[in-house]
Amino acid sequence: MSEQKQIFVGWLIDGTGAPVQKKVLVTVEKGIIRSLTSHYTGSLSDSCTDLGFATIVPPFIDCHVHLAMSGGVAEEIRSSQLQAECADLKSVISRHLGYLFSHGVLAVRDGGDRGACVREFRKTYEGPVAVYTPGPAWYRDGRYGRLIGRAVTEKEELAQSFAEIDWDFDHVKLVNSGLNSLTDYGKTTRPQFDRGEIGKLVSLSGRDGKKVMVHANGVEPVREAIEGGCHSIEHGFFMGRDNLERMAAKGVVWVPTAVTMKMYAEVRKLQGDKDGAEIAHRNLMHQLEQISMAVELGVEVGLGSDSGSSGVLHGESLVDEMKLLIKGGLSLAGSIRSATLVGARLLGIENWGTIEVGKRADFLVARGGPGQLPRKFSYLEDIYTSGVPDNRYRKNPFKHTGETAVQPI
Ligand SMILES: [Zn+2]
Repeated sequence: MSEQKQIFVGWLIDGTGAPVQKKVLVTVEKGIIRSLTSHYTGSLSDSCTDLGFATIVPPFIDCHVHLAMSGGVAEEIRSSQLQAECADLKSVISRHLGYLFSHGVLAVRDGGDRGACVREFRKTYEGPVAVYTPGPAWYRDGRYGRLIGRAVTEKEELAQSFAEIDWDFDHVKLVNSGLNSLTDYGKTTRPQFDRGEIGKLVSLSGRDGKKVMVHANGVEPVREAIEGGCHSIEHGFFMGRDNLERMAAKGVVWVPTAVTMKMYAEVRKLQGDKDGAEIAHRNLMHQLEQISMAVELGVEVGLGSDSGSSGVLHGESLVDEMKLLIKGGLSLAGSIRSATLVGARLLGIENWGTIEVGKRADFLVARGGPGQLPRKFSYLEDIYTSGVPDNRYRKNPFKHTGETAVQPI
């Protein structure tokens, strides 16, 4: 028997942002894609796997999660998770990865946790999701960031503090603004660090090939981060057109995490806080306008859910964020690029992120055609790795949990 295997798929979206390909015959040899033939009209051999009813896309990468937090809205659970020891968070992190995997996420870029418990967890984790973590985030003492970070005091220099710590991290997370106000629409905070300090951090971490992701909202905090040479802006609410132009020019990736604001609005509404819900909703609308500006200016948009923040649940929030990116003006193929190729580049795993000849035959199978996407990503038919169905997906105890969006844990 030949080692070649054929798979026929109804539709293929390759992760580059290119239009949907129809009726594609995929030839796989030793787990690697050897050819892709679209508009295939020949007969299918008996051994050919027929996925003519389905669309395939590359595995997803969630570019912004907090694995150590659940995204529940019950304050007592949130605060106990925030204070927990790493040993107690093991089962929590493992469950989150189960949810993520059930939604086709095979790699995550963590946004940091105070105790570096994600890094600790990863040492013994053997599951299907590749975990990339910065350890704790860096922030200025007295400013926002305590929940996930390590403080730099007024007397200390950011790069100096960073240099003194030797740990096994994959990227660097810096906090350079506060959170968005839910009482004053559009009110922003000043930067925590200036472009000089950020620049030193970027060049220091760049020596080891590590990229710098920066939490920043508002015009000035975002501008300082871009001019400091960061690789991605996380959130970027109210950053404005000028910053988007700078990002397009410098190739800085934007991870808008719009779903956080959608969930804030829903949570506030449930809590009976009408004004807070109204402001969160306006923030969301403003963010969607910025997304359409980013599309117009050619800014590379990455898909990050910020799962773990209030009301934002691991796995399903990726699909919600994809819907919002599309609402903001990305095409379906563009939003899939955000969740695949853009993430792979941010993580420096460029053998990932697309379905193409020469790459491993890893892909998600969603029942139906592109018209039913991204909805069907919430109920994946299957996950293939190296050209065969991944048993870990079928056995995943967290598959199709039927969780609703807003509930504690
Ligand atoms: Zn975050």
